[in-house]
Amino acid sequence: MAQDDIFKKLIAHCKEYGYVFPSSEIYDGLSAVYDYGQYGVELKNNIKKYWWDSMVLLHDNIVGLDSAIFMHPDVWKASGHVDAFNDPLIDNKDSKKRYRADMLIEEHVNKLEDKIQKEIDKAHTRFGDAFNEEMFRKTNPRVMANQEKIDEINKRFSEAINTGNLNDVRQIIIDCEIVCPVSGSRNWTEVRQFNLMFATEMGSTAEGATKVYLRPETAQGIFVNFLNVQKTGRMKVPFGIAQIGKAFRNEIVARQFIFRMREFEQMEMQFFVKPGTEIGWFNHWKELRMKWHKALGFGEASYRFHDHDKLAHYANAATDIEFRFPFGFREVEGIHSRTDFDLRQHQELSGRKLQYFDSDSGESYIPFVVETSIGVDRMFLQVISASYDEEELKKDDGTTDTRVVLRLPAVIAPVKLAVLPLVKKDGLPEIAQKVVADLKFSFNCQYDDKDSIGRRYRRQDAIGTPYCITIDHQTMQDETVTIRYRDSMLQERVKISSLSGIIAEKVSIPALLRKL
Ligand code: ATP
Repeated sequence: MAQDDIFKKLIAHCKEYGYVFPSSEIYDGLSAVYDYGQYGVELKNNIKKYWWDSMVLLHDNIVGLDSAIFMHPDVWKASGHVDAFNDPLIDNKDSKKRYRADMLIEEHVNKLEDKIQKEIDKAHTRFGDAFNEEMFRKTNPRVMANQEKIDEINKRFSEAINTGNLNDVRQIIIDCEIVCPVSGSRNWTEVRQFNLMFATEMGSTAEGATKVYLRPETAQGIFVNFLNVQKTGRMKVPFGIAQIGKAFRNEIVARQFIFRMREFEQMEMQFFVKPGTEIGWFNHWKELRMKWHKALGFGEASYRFHDHDKLAHYANAATDIEFRFPFGFREVEGIHSRTDFDLRQHQELSGRKLQYFDSDSGESYIPFVVETSIGVDRMFLQVISASYDEEELKKDDGTTDTRVVLRLPAVIAPVKLAVLPLVKKDGLPEIAQKVVADLKFSFNCQYDDKDSIGRRYRRQDAIGTPYCITIDHQTMQDETVTIRYRDSMLQERVKISSLSGIIAEKVSIPALLRKL
Protein backbone atom coordinates (compact mmCIF):
# COMPACT_ATOMS: atom_id res chain seq x y z
CA MET A 1 0.00 0.00 0.00
CA ALA A 2 1.26 3.49 -0.77
CA GLN A 3 2.73 5.31 2.27
CA ASP A 4 0.26 8.15 1.70
CA ASP A 5 -2.67 5.78 2.07
CA ILE A 6 -1.18 4.24 5.19
CA PHE A 7 -0.84 7.70 6.70
CA LYS A 8 -4.47 8.55 5.90
CA LYS A 9 -5.59 5.29 7.48
CA LEU A 10 -3.49 6.00 10.55
CA ILE A 11 -5.15 9.40 11.01
CA ALA A 12 -8.60 7.85 10.61
CA HIS A 13 -7.65 5.09 13.06
CA CYS A 14 -6.49 7.62 15.66
CA LYS A 15 -9.87 9.29 15.50
CA GLU A 16 -11.98 6.14 15.39
CA TYR A 17 -10.28 4.61 18.41
CA GLY A 18 -10.12 7.61 20.72
CA TYR A 19 -6.48 8.61 20.26
CA VAL A 20 -6.59 12.00 18.52
CA PHE A 21 -9.52 14.23 17.52
CA PRO A 22 -9.46 17.45 15.49
CA SER A 23 -9.96 20.36 17.90
CA SER A 24 -13.47 21.88 18.06
CA GLU A 25 -14.61 19.31 15.55
CA ILE A 26 -18.31 20.19 15.81
CA TYR A 27 -17.34 23.62 14.41
CA ASP A 28 -15.36 21.96 11.59
CA GLY A 29 -12.09 21.99 13.49
CA LEU A 30 -9.29 24.49 13.97
CA SER A 31 -6.34 24.15 11.66
CA ALA A 32 -3.30 22.38 13.16
CA VAL A 33 -4.82 22.06 16.62
CA TYR A 34 -5.76 18.65 18.00
CA ASP A 35 -7.23 17.07 21.12
CA TYR A 36 -6.09 13.79 22.61
CA GLY A 37 -8.84 11.31 23.42
CA GLN A 38 -9.13 8.70 26.14
CA TYR A 39 -6.33 6.47 24.85
CA GLY A 40 -4.27 9.29 23.37
CA VAL A 41 -3.88 11.00 26.71
CA GLU A 42 -2.70 7.77 28.35
CA LEU A 43 -0.12 7.13 25.64
CA LYS A 44 1.05 10.72 25.84
CA ASN A 45 1.39 10.52 29.63
CA ASN A 46 3.38 7.29 29.32
CA ILE A 47 5.74 8.86 26.77
CA LYS A 48 6.23 11.84 29.06
CA LYS A 49 6.92 9.58 32.04
CA TYR A 50 9.49 7.59 30.06
CA TRP A 51 11.26 10.85 29.14
CA TRP A 52 10.96 12.44 32.58
CA ASP A 53 12.25 9.38 34.43
CA SER A 54 15.12 8.96 31.97
CA MET A 55 16.20 12.52 32.79
CA VAL A 56 15.25 13.31 36.38
CA LEU A 57 15.14 9.87 37.96
CA LEU A 58 18.27 8.46 36.34
CA HIS A 59 20.49 11.52 36.76
CA ASP A 60 21.19 12.91 40.19
CA ASN A 61 22.42 16.11 38.50
CA ILE A 62 19.19 16.79 36.56
CA VAL A 63 16.15 18.34 38.23
CA GLY A 64 12.74 19.36 36.94
CA LEU A 65 10.93 22.67 36.50
CA ASP A 66 7.45 23.84 35.55
CA SER A 67 7.62 27.46 34.43
CA ALA A 68 4.70 29.61 33.26
CA ILE A 69 3.64 29.90 29.62
CA PHE A 70 3.52 33.70 29.85
CA MET A 71 6.85 35.39 30.39
CA HIS A 72 8.05 38.97 30.55
CA PRO A 73 8.09 40.32 26.95
CA ASP A 74 11.79 41.21 27.27
CA VAL A 75 12.57 37.49 27.50
CA TRP A 76 11.68 37.16 23.83
CA LYS A 77 13.71 40.22 22.89
CA ALA A 78 16.77 38.78 24.63
CA SER A 79 16.32 35.34 23.12
CA GLY A 80 16.08 36.80 19.62
CA HIS A 81 12.54 35.54 19.00
CA VAL A 82 11.02 39.02 18.47
CA ASP A 83 13.53 39.87 15.77
CA ALA A 84 14.37 36.56 14.24
CA PHE A 85 11.88 33.79 14.96
CA ASN A 86 10.69 33.96 11.39
CA ASP A 87 9.93 31.58 8.59
CA PRO A 88 10.27 32.65 4.97
CA LEU A 89 6.91 32.38 3.24
CA ILE A 90 5.99 32.38 -0.43
CA ASP A 91 2.63 32.25 -2.22
CA ASN A 92 1.72 30.67 -5.50
CA LYS A 93 -0.21 33.27 -7.50
CA ASP A 94 -2.35 30.71 -9.31
CA SER A 95 -3.46 28.43 -6.50
CA LYS A 96 -3.25 31.21 -3.85
CA LYS A 97 -1.64 28.60 -1.59
CA ARG A 98 1.00 29.65 0.92
CA TYR A 99 4.20 27.69 1.53
CA ARG A 100 7.33 27.87 3.61
CA ALA A 101 10.04 28.66 1.09
CA ASP A 102 12.63 26.65 3.05
CA MET A 103 10.34 23.64 3.04
CA LEU A 104 9.76 23.74 -0.70
CA ILE A 105 13.52 23.62 -1.10
CA GLU A 106 13.91 20.92 1.53
CA GLU A 107 11.28 18.75 -0.17
CA HIS A 108 13.11 19.19 -3.47
CA VAL A 109 16.34 18.06 -1.80
CA ASN A 110 14.50 15.10 -0.23
CA LYS A 111 13.39 14.01 -3.68
CA LEU A 112 16.98 14.06 -4.90
CA GLU A 113 17.99 12.07 -1.81
CA ASP A 114 15.25 9.54 -2.55
CA LYS A 115 16.66 9.12 -6.06
CA ILE A 116 20.08 8.38 -4.58
CA GLN A 117 18.56 5.93 -2.12
CA LYS A 118 16.78 4.11 -4.95
CA GLU A 119 20.07 3.67 -6.83
CA ILE A 120 21.68 2.36 -3.65
CA ASP A 121 18.85 -0.07 -2.94
CA LYS A 122 18.98 -1.36 -6.53
CA ALA A 123 22.73 -1.89 -6.39
CA HIS A 124 22.44 -3.50 -2.98
CA THR A 125 20.01 -6.08 -4.34
CA ARG A 126 22.26 -6.70 -7.34
CA PHE A 127 25.54 -7.12 -5.46
CA GLY A 128 24.24 -8.58 -2.19
CA ASP A 129 26.68 -8.77 0.73
CA ALA A 130 29.60 -7.65 -1.45
CA PHE A 131 28.00 -4.21 -1.84
CA ASN A 132 30.06 -1.31 -0.55
CA GLU A 133 27.78 1.70 -0.15
CA GLU A 134 30.55 4.19 0.57
CA MET A 135 32.43 3.23 -2.58
CA PHE A 136 29.22 3.25 -4.62
CA ARG A 137 28.38 6.79 -3.47
CA LYS A 138 31.84 7.95 -4.51
CA THR A 139 31.85 6.35 -7.96
CA ASN A 140 28.36 6.00 -9.40
CA PRO A 141 27.87 8.91 -11.85
CA ARG A 142 24.12 9.33 -11.28
CA VAL A 143 24.53 9.32 -7.49
CA MET A 144 27.44 11.75 -7.71
CA ALA A 145 25.53 14.14 -9.96
CA ASN A 146 22.52 14.22 -7.61
CA GLN A 147 24.75 14.61 -4.56
CA GLU A 148 26.46 17.54 -6.24
CA LYS A 149 23.09 19.18 -6.87
CA ILE A 150 22.08 18.66 -3.22
CA ASP A 151 25.32 20.15 -1.89
CA GLU A 152 25.02 23.13 -4.21
CA ILE A 153 21.39 23.85 -3.20
CA ASN A 154 22.15 23.48 0.52
CA LYS A 155 25.14 25.80 0.27
CA ARG A 156 23.24 28.44 -1.67
CA PHE A 157 20.28 28.23 0.67
CA SER A 158 22.32 28.61 3.87
CA GLU A 159 24.13 31.60 2.42
CA ALA A 160 20.86 33.21 1.37
CA ILE A 161 19.22 32.67 4.77
CA ASN A 162 22.24 33.69 6.79
CA THR A 163 22.61 36.93 4.88
CA GLY A 164 18.84 37.56 4.77
CA ASN A 165 18.86 37.48 0.97
CA LEU A 166 15.23 36.54 0.35
CA ASN A 167 15.48 37.25 -3.39
CA ASP A 168 17.99 34.49 -3.70
CA VAL A 169 15.77 32.11 -1.71
CA ARG A 170 13.11 32.78 -4.36
CA GLN A 171 15.67 32.35 -7.13
CA ILE A 172 16.63 28.90 -5.81
CA ILE A 173 12.97 27.86 -6.03
CA ILE A 174 12.86 29.11 -9.61
CA ASP A 175 16.21 27.60 -10.61
CA CYS A 176 15.24 24.21 -9.15
CA GLU A 177 12.01 24.43 -11.19
CA ILE A 178 9.89 23.78 -8.10
CA VAL A 179 6.19 23.82 -8.90
CA CYS A 180 3.18 24.41 -6.66
CA PRO A 181 1.77 20.96 -5.80
CA VAL A 182 -1.76 22.34 -6.22
CA SER A 183 -1.65 24.47 -9.39
CA GLY A 184 1.43 22.88 -10.91
CA SER A 185 2.67 26.36 -11.84
CA ARG A 186 5.89 28.26 -11.11
CA ASN A 187 4.14 31.57 -10.69
CA TRP A 188 5.62 32.57 -7.30
CA THR A 189 5.38 35.79 -5.28
CA GLU A 190 8.31 37.39 -3.46
CA VAL A 191 9.55 35.67 -0.32
CA ARG A 192 8.65 37.44 2.96
CA GLN A 193 9.57 36.80 6.57
CA PHE A 194 6.77 35.89 8.98
CA ASN A 195 7.11 35.87 12.79
CA LEU A 196 5.78 32.67 14.33
CA MET A 197 4.95 33.94 17.81
CA PHE A 198 1.36 34.36 18.96
CA ALA A 199 0.88 37.67 20.74
CA THR A 200 -1.87 38.69 23.12
CA GLU A 201 -2.49 41.41 25.70
CA MET A 202 -2.14 41.21 29.44
CA GLY A 203 -3.95 43.78 31.61
CA SER A 204 -7.46 45.14 31.78
CA THR A 205 -7.39 48.43 29.90
CA ALA A 206 -6.26 48.99 26.35
CA GLU A 207 -3.81 51.74 27.42
CA GLY A 208 -2.39 49.79 30.35
CA ALA A 209 -2.17 46.47 28.58
CA THR A 210 1.18 44.88 27.85
CA LYS A 211 1.85 42.85 24.76
CA VAL A 212 2.81 39.34 25.83
CA TYR A 213 3.54 36.20 23.85
CA LEU A 214 2.53 32.60 24.17
CA ARG A 215 5.92 30.93 24.55
CA PRO A 216 7.22 29.37 21.33
CA GLU A 217 9.57 27.07 23.29
CA THR A 218 9.90 25.98 26.90
CA ALA A 219 13.66 26.53 27.05
CA GLN A 220 13.56 30.23 28.01
CA GLY A 221 11.70 29.38 31.23
CA ILE A 222 14.70 27.25 32.12
CA PHE A 223 17.26 29.94 31.29
CA VAL A 224 15.63 32.65 33.37
CA ASN A 225 15.36 30.25 36.33
CA PHE A 226 18.90 28.97 35.96
CA LEU A 227 20.25 30.69 39.08
CA ASN A 228 17.11 30.07 41.16
CA VAL A 229 17.45 26.34 40.61
CA GLN A 230 21.24 26.29 40.88
CA LYS A 231 21.25 28.14 44.21
CA THR A 232 18.22 26.55 45.88
CA GLY A 233 19.16 23.08 44.66
CA ARG A 234 22.89 23.63 45.42
CA MET A 235 23.60 22.30 41.93
CA LYS A 236 27.15 22.00 40.69
CA VAL A 237 28.08 22.37 37.03
CA PRO A 238 27.58 20.17 35.05
CA PHE A 239 23.87 19.95 35.83
CA GLY A 240 20.61 19.93 33.93
CA ILE A 241 17.08 21.31 34.21
CA ALA A 242 14.25 19.40 32.54
CA GLN A 243 10.82 20.68 31.65
CA ILE A 244 7.71 19.43 29.86
CA GLY A 245 5.17 21.97 28.72
CA LYS A 246 3.08 23.57 26.01
CA ALA A 247 4.57 25.73 23.27
CA PHE A 248 2.81 27.73 20.56
CA ARG A 249 3.88 28.61 17.03
CA ASN A 250 1.81 30.23 14.33
CA GLU A 251 3.07 27.77 11.71
CA ILE A 252 2.57 28.97 8.14
CA VAL A 253 1.89 25.57 6.72
CA ALA A 254 0.33 23.15 9.07
CA ARG A 255 0.14 19.77 7.46
CA GLN A 256 0.83 16.18 8.31
CA PHE A 257 -1.51 15.77 11.23
CA ILE A 258 0.18 16.19 14.63
CA PHE A 259 3.65 16.51 13.07
CA ARG A 260 3.33 20.28 12.79
CA MET A 261 0.87 21.90 15.15
CA ARG A 262 0.15 25.43 16.30
CA GLU A 263 -0.20 24.32 19.91
CA PHE A 264 2.06 21.48 20.94
CA GLU A 265 4.11 20.14 23.80
CA GLN A 266 7.86 19.99 24.25
CA MET A 267 10.19 18.03 26.53
CA GLU A 268 13.37 20.03 26.89
CA MET A 269 16.47 19.62 28.99
CA GLN A 270 19.15 22.29 29.24
CA PHE A 271 22.47 20.98 30.46
CA PHE A 272 24.80 23.63 31.92
CA VAL A 273 28.49 22.88 31.46
CA LYS A 274 31.88 24.51 31.84
CA PRO A 275 32.91 26.45 28.70
CA GLY A 276 35.26 24.34 26.61
CA THR A 277 33.67 21.02 27.62
CA GLU A 278 30.49 21.49 25.59
CA ILE A 279 31.39 19.39 22.55
CA GLY A 280 32.14 16.37 24.73
CA TRP A 281 28.74 16.79 26.41
CA PHE A 282 27.04 17.37 23.06
CA ASN A 283 28.36 13.99 21.85
CA HIS A 284 27.36 12.38 25.12
CA TRP A 285 23.75 13.58 24.83
CA LYS A 286 23.60 12.72 21.16
CA GLU A 287 24.40 9.11 21.97
CA LEU A 288 22.15 8.91 25.03
CA ARG A 289 19.13 10.39 23.29
CA MET A 290 19.46 8.02 20.34
CA LYS A 291 19.60 5.10 22.79
CA TRP A 292 16.40 6.39 24.42
CA HIS A 293 14.58 6.24 21.08
CA LYS A 294 15.98 2.88 20.03
CA ALA A 295 15.14 1.24 23.39
CA LEU A 296 11.49 1.23 22.28
CA GLY A 297 12.38 -1.42 19.71
CA PHE A 298 11.25 0.14 16.41
CA GLY A 299 14.47 -0.98 14.70
CA GLU A 300 17.84 0.56 13.93
CA ALA A 301 16.88 1.45 10.35
CA SER A 302 14.11 3.77 11.54
CA TYR A 303 16.52 6.42 12.83
CA ARG A 304 19.31 8.61 11.62
CA PHE A 305 21.18 11.71 12.71
CA HIS A 306 21.06 14.81 10.58
CA ASP A 307 24.04 16.94 11.56
CA HIS A 308 23.53 20.62 10.73
CA ASP A 309 25.95 22.26 8.29
CA LYS A 310 24.05 25.48 8.70
CA LEU A 311 24.38 26.50 12.35
CA ALA A 312 22.38 29.21 14.07
CA HIS A 313 24.71 32.08 14.97
CA TYR A 314 24.69 31.12 18.67
CA ALA A 315 25.31 27.38 18.20
CA ASN A 316 28.62 25.58 17.77
CA ALA A 317 27.16 22.12 17.06
CA ALA A 318 23.68 20.84 16.25
CA THR A 319 22.05 17.65 15.12
CA ASP A 320 18.54 16.28 14.66
CA ILE A 321 17.39 12.79 15.43
CA GLU A 322 15.21 11.87 12.47
CA PHE A 323 12.64 9.10 12.36
CA ARG A 324 11.32 7.38 9.27
CA PHE A 325 7.67 8.52 9.20
CA PRO A 326 5.30 7.25 6.49
CA PHE A 327 6.14 10.52 4.65
CA GLY A 328 9.91 10.07 4.98
CA PHE A 329 12.70 10.82 7.45
CA ARG A 330 11.84 13.89 9.55
CA GLU A 331 13.10 15.58 12.71
CA VAL A 332 11.74 14.34 16.02
CA GLU A 333 14.34 15.82 18.32
CA GLY A 334 17.02 18.50 18.19
CA ILE A 335 20.28 18.41 20.15
CA HIS A 336 22.06 21.74 20.19
CA SER A 337 25.20 23.14 21.72
CA ARG A 338 24.01 26.74 22.29
CA THR A 339 27.17 28.20 23.84
CA ASP A 340 26.43 30.88 26.48
CA PHE A 341 24.23 32.85 24.07
CA ASP A 342 20.94 32.74 25.97
CA LEU A 343 22.31 33.32 29.48
CA ARG A 344 24.55 36.13 28.24
CA GLN A 345 21.65 37.82 26.44
CA HIS A 346 19.44 37.60 29.53
CA GLN A 347 22.26 38.91 31.69
CA GLU A 348 22.64 41.92 29.41
CA LEU A 349 18.98 42.81 29.03
CA SER A 350 17.92 42.15 32.62
CA GLY A 351 21.02 43.69 34.15
CA ARG A 352 21.22 40.72 36.57
CA LYS A 353 24.33 38.62 36.86
CA LEU A 354 23.70 35.11 35.59
CA GLN A 355 27.01 33.57 36.52
CA TYR A 356 27.97 30.38 38.23
CA PHE A 357 30.54 30.47 41.00
CA ASP A 358 32.75 27.41 40.95
CA SER A 359 33.75 26.95 44.58
CA ASP A 360 36.48 24.43 43.70
CA SER A 361 38.40 26.72 41.37
CA GLY A 362 37.19 30.03 42.75
CA GLU A 363 36.19 31.31 39.30
CA SER A 364 32.87 32.70 38.09
CA TYR A 365 31.57 32.16 34.59
CA ILE A 366 28.46 31.97 32.43
CA PRO A 367 28.00 28.26 31.72
CA PHE A 368 27.62 26.90 28.20
CA VAL A 369 24.46 24.98 27.41
CA VAL A 370 23.78 21.74 25.58
CA GLU A 371 20.06 21.21 25.04
CA THR A 372 17.95 18.24 24.03
CA SER A 373 14.55 19.25 22.71
CA ILE A 374 11.85 16.84 21.62
CA GLY A 375 8.18 17.34 20.73
CA VAL A 376 5.79 15.10 22.68
CA ASP A 377 3.35 15.10 19.77
CA ARG A 378 6.01 14.18 17.22
CA MET A 379 7.15 11.41 19.52
CA PHE A 380 3.52 10.28 19.77
CA LEU A 381 3.32 10.23 15.97
CA GLN A 382 6.57 8.26 15.82
CA VAL A 383 5.19 5.65 18.24
CA ILE A 384 1.82 5.35 16.58
CA SER A 385 3.13 5.22 13.01
CA ALA A 386 5.75 2.61 13.92
CA SER A 387 3.07 0.54 15.65
CA TYR A 388 0.22 0.63 13.12
CA ASP A 389 -0.05 -2.61 11.20
CA GLU A 390 -2.57 -4.25 8.92
CA GLU A 391 -1.91 -7.96 9.17
CA GLU A 392 -3.23 -10.55 6.72
CA LEU A 393 -4.51 -13.64 8.50
CA LYS A 394 -5.23 -17.00 6.91
CA LYS A 395 -8.49 -18.46 8.08
CA ASP A 396 -9.18 -22.20 8.51
CA ASP A 397 -11.34 -22.26 5.36
CA GLY A 398 -8.44 -20.93 3.25
CA THR A 399 -9.77 -17.38 2.90
CA THR A 400 -7.91 -14.40 4.30
CA ASP A 401 -8.87 -11.70 6.73
CA THR A 402 -7.14 -8.50 7.82
CA ARG A 403 -6.67 -7.39 11.38
CA VAL A 404 -5.62 -3.89 12.32
CA VAL A 405 -3.23 -4.02 15.22
CA LEU A 406 -1.32 -1.31 17.06
CA ARG A 407 1.91 -3.00 18.06
CA LEU A 408 2.66 -0.46 20.76
CA PRO A 409 5.55 -1.23 23.08
CA ALA A 410 3.70 -2.79 26.05
CA VAL A 411 5.42 -0.46 28.49
CA ILE A 412 3.76 2.66 27.02
CA ALA A 413 0.48 1.12 25.78
CA PRO A 414 -2.55 2.99 27.21
CA VAL A 415 -4.37 -0.16 28.33
CA LYS A 416 -2.16 -2.96 29.58
CA LEU A 417 -4.73 -5.72 29.80
CA ALA A 418 -8.35 -6.43 29.00
CA VAL A 419 -10.27 -8.95 31.09
CA LEU A 420 -12.96 -10.74 29.12
CA PRO A 421 -15.51 -13.27 30.39
CA LEU A 422 -16.07 -15.81 27.61
CA VAL A 423 -19.83 -15.61 28.16
CA LYS A 424 -21.96 -13.17 30.08
CA LYS A 425 -23.36 -15.75 32.52
CA ASP A 426 -22.47 -18.68 34.79
CA GLY A 427 -20.58 -16.41 37.19
CA LEU A 428 -17.81 -15.64 34.67
CA PRO A 429 -18.41 -11.83 34.66
CA GLU A 430 -18.09 -11.78 38.45
CA ILE A 431 -14.71 -13.53 38.33
CA ALA A 432 -13.56 -11.16 35.58
CA GLN A 433 -14.63 -8.13 37.63
CA LYS A 434 -12.70 -9.48 40.60
CA VAL A 435 -9.54 -9.89 38.49
CA VAL A 436 -9.89 -6.27 37.37
CA ALA A 437 -10.53 -5.12 40.95
CA ASP A 438 -7.28 -6.78 42.04
CA LEU A 439 -5.08 -5.68 39.14
CA LYS A 440 -6.30 -2.13 38.59
CA PHE A 441 -4.03 -0.75 41.30
CA SER A 442 -0.99 -1.74 39.27
CA PHE A 443 -2.13 -1.61 35.65
CA ASN A 444 -4.57 0.22 33.41
CA CYS A 445 -7.18 -2.56 32.94
CA GLN A 446 -10.34 -2.79 30.91
CA TYR A 447 -13.37 -5.03 31.40
CA ASP A 448 -15.37 -5.96 28.30
CA ASP A 449 -18.23 -8.42 27.95
CA LYS A 450 -19.96 -7.16 24.80
CA ASP A 451 -19.92 -9.07 21.48
CA SER A 452 -18.20 -12.33 20.59
CA ILE A 453 -14.76 -13.01 22.03
CA GLY A 454 -13.21 -12.69 18.55
CA ARG A 455 -14.60 -9.19 18.10
CA ARG A 456 -13.44 -8.19 21.55
CA TYR A 457 -9.91 -9.35 20.75
CA ARG A 458 -9.95 -7.25 17.57
CA ARG A 459 -11.12 -4.20 19.47
CA GLN A 460 -8.22 -4.58 21.88
CA ASP A 461 -5.79 -5.16 18.99
CA ALA A 462 -6.96 -1.90 17.45
CA ILE A 463 -6.22 0.09 20.60
CA GLY A 464 -2.96 -1.77 21.13
CA THR A 465 -3.70 -3.65 24.36
CA PRO A 466 -0.83 -6.12 24.72
CA TYR A 467 -2.64 -8.74 26.87
CA CYS A 468 -6.16 -10.14 26.86
CA ILE A 469 -7.19 -12.31 29.79
CA THR A 470 -10.11 -14.63 29.11
CA ILE A 471 -12.19 -16.14 31.89
CA ASP A 472 -13.92 -19.40 30.90
CA HIS A 473 -15.65 -22.31 32.58
CA GLN A 474 -12.36 -23.98 33.41
CA THR A 475 -11.50 -20.93 35.50
CA MET A 476 -14.30 -21.91 37.90
CA GLN A 477 -12.62 -25.25 38.47
CA ASP A 478 -8.90 -24.54 38.65
CA GLU A 479 -8.48 -20.74 38.87
CA THR A 480 -6.65 -20.61 35.56
CA VAL A 481 -7.29 -18.19 32.69
CA THR A 482 -5.95 -17.80 29.16
CA ILE A 483 -3.62 -14.95 28.41
CA ARG A 484 -3.60 -13.94 24.74
CA TYR A 485 -0.62 -12.05 23.38
CA ARG A 486 -1.54 -9.26 20.97
CA ASP A 487 1.40 -9.60 18.58
CA SER A 488 1.56 -13.38 18.14
CA MET A 489 -2.10 -14.04 19.02
CA LEU A 490 -0.81 -17.09 20.93
CA GLN A 491 -2.69 -18.12 24.04
CA GLU A 492 -1.38 -19.65 27.22
CA ARG A 493 -3.13 -21.05 30.26
CA VAL A 494 -1.90 -19.55 33.49
CA LYS A 495 -2.97 -19.27 37.12
CA ILE A 496 -4.86 -16.09 38.07
CA SER A 497 -2.37 -15.62 40.89
CA SER A 498 0.55 -15.46 38.42
CA LEU A 499 -1.01 -12.76 36.18
CA SER A 500 0.34 -9.80 38.08
CA GLY A 501 3.92 -11.11 37.93
CA ILE A 502 3.76 -12.01 34.22
CA ILE A 503 2.40 -8.60 33.20
CA ALA A 504 4.50 -6.51 35.58
CA GLU A 505 7.69 -7.87 34.08
CA LYS A 506 6.65 -6.86 30.57
CA VAL A 507 5.26 -3.40 31.21
CA SER A 508 7.81 -2.07 33.64
CA ILE A 509 9.27 1.38 32.94
CA PRO A 510 12.28 0.59 35.19
CA ALA A 511 13.12 -2.39 32.94
CA LEU A 512 13.04 -0.07 29.93
CA LEU A 513 15.15 2.52 31.72
CA ARG A 514 17.76 -0.13 32.53
CA LYS A 515 18.43 -0.45 28.79
CA LEU A 516 19.71 3.12 28.67
P1 ATP B 1 10.91 22.18 12.36
O1 ATP B 1 12.20 22.39 11.61
O2 ATP B 1 10.27 20.85 12.09
O3 ATP B 1 9.97 23.34 12.30
P2 ATP B 1 12.34 23.13 14.62
O4 ATP B 1 13.74 22.79 14.24
O5 ATP B 1 11.83 24.50 14.50
O6 ATP B 1 11.33 22.10 13.90
P3 ATP B 1 12.84 23.15 17.42
O7 ATP B 1 12.62 24.58 17.58
O8 ATP B 1 14.24 22.61 17.48
O9 ATP B 1 12.11 22.62 16.11
O10 ATP B 1 11.91 22.38 18.48
C1 ATP B 1 12.27 21.17 19.09
C2 ATP B 1 11.27 20.08 18.83
O11 ATP B 1 9.93 20.54 19.07
C3 ATP B 1 11.24 19.57 17.40
O12 ATP B 1 12.25 18.60 17.20
C4 ATP B 1 9.86 18.98 17.31
O13 ATP B 1 9.82 17.65 17.83
C5 ATP B 1 9.03 19.86 18.20
N1 ATP B 1 8.27 20.83 17.40
C6 ATP B 1 8.72 22.02 16.91
N2 ATP B 1 7.75 22.64 16.23
C7 ATP B 1 6.65 21.84 16.31
C8 ATP B 1 5.31 21.95 15.83
N3 ATP B 1 4.90 23.01 15.14
N4 ATP B 1 4.45 20.94 16.09
C9 ATP B 1 4.84 19.86 16.80
N5 ATP B 1 6.09 19.71 17.29
C10 ATP B 1 6.98 20.69 17.06
